[in-house]
Amino acid sequence: MVYLYHFVKPYRGRAQHYLGSTNDLKRRHQEHISGRGSPLIRAALAAGIDMYCIPLFPNEGHKLERAIKLQKNSRRICPLCNTYKRFKLA
Ligand SMILES: [Zn+2]
Repeated sequence: MVYLYHFVKPYRGRAQHYLGSTNDLKRRHQEHISGRGSPLIRAALAAGIDMYCIPLFPNEGHKLERAIKLQKNSRRICPLCNTYKRFKLA
């Protein structure tokens, strides 16, 4: 499973997404929100930033995560960011 966290506002005016992969999103989500997962998520939560956890590709794993990260543009594949854009254009 490749998943994406979308922060409701950018952390330190920059990062607004965290991309990851796991075999067990429920367990991984618990790790993230309890501060035992990504340091970025831990820092953003500590700064009071709410976030959404979005399951993106249920049948993919680390290989696709790496490929997406190399493009350095998680926003492009974020459903929330792109839904908002379509809403604004309508
Ligand atoms: Zn987004």
